[in-house]
Amino acid sequence: MAIAQTIRCSNCGAPVEFRPGELVATCKYCGFTTVIETGQAFVFEHSLLLNHFDQTQIDKPIKDWMTSGFLKPGDLARKAKITEKELTYLPFWVVSIIVKTTYKGMFERISPPLVKDGTIEKEYNWLVLAREASDFPTREYDVPLEGKIPYDFRKIEGFAKILNSEIEREEALELAKQQIEANHRFLLQQDVDKIIEMKSEFTVEQMVYLHAPVWFIKYEYKGNTFQLIIDGAVGMVLKGDIPSSKFGLL
Ligand SMILES: [Zn+2]
Repeated sequence: MAIAQTIRCSNCGAPVEFRPGELVATCKYCGFTTVIETGQAFVFEHSLLLNHFDQTQIDKPIKDWMTSGFLKPGDLARKAKITEKELTYLPFWVVSIIVKTTYKGMFERISPPLVKDGTIEKEYNWLVLAREASDFPTREYDVPLEGKIPYDFRKIEGFAKILNSEIEREEALELAKQQIEANHRFLLQQDVDKIIEMKSEFTVEQMVYLHAPVWFIKYEYKGNTFQLIIDGAVGMVLKGDIPSSKFGLL
């Protein structure tokens, strides 16, 4: 991992660590958030989702996951050994946006084909992970936004890791627009077979910078290591590696 650098917190004067590529850093002594490049205060809403599990309590959603679902080996919960439990607060941009896509296309499922037009209008709290490289399953994560509070560093456990943003607000908004438009393109293909034209209008209602608690779990089973990713707010498994059970059915 790259070497951390520090700036001085403009609120309390404490050293604030950041790594190359990070754009926004939060002071772990007073919770003040600074834009690294300018040294200025971060002016957007900064929120926090609370973690509701400690290092013992997190065992329950792990065991529940291991004992449910027919794809898992029957002895998984008994034989698996949890080797790592790490709580990380991941940075996200939550883009609250209304997107209206109007389109015209060919409907070819009848003869002769028809030209059809239509509209898809939807409202989203679209989530963009504020890190450049990650295999985090962002689309699987239904963030429990009802639980968010203003960012409060005192609510963050001493053993937890906090990651800073590597993606600027404007870039996050651009990504959200592209991803939503791709989603609408997919949706409108239920209605038309060939798109002639399509146009989207975006109304941004709010953008929130959010830190959300995520547990990264490693476990060993029959000599191999597997990973689980669990949301720390509600205990939902976002992604889990399942050992192949090799029943030899065929
Ligand atoms: Zn500070």
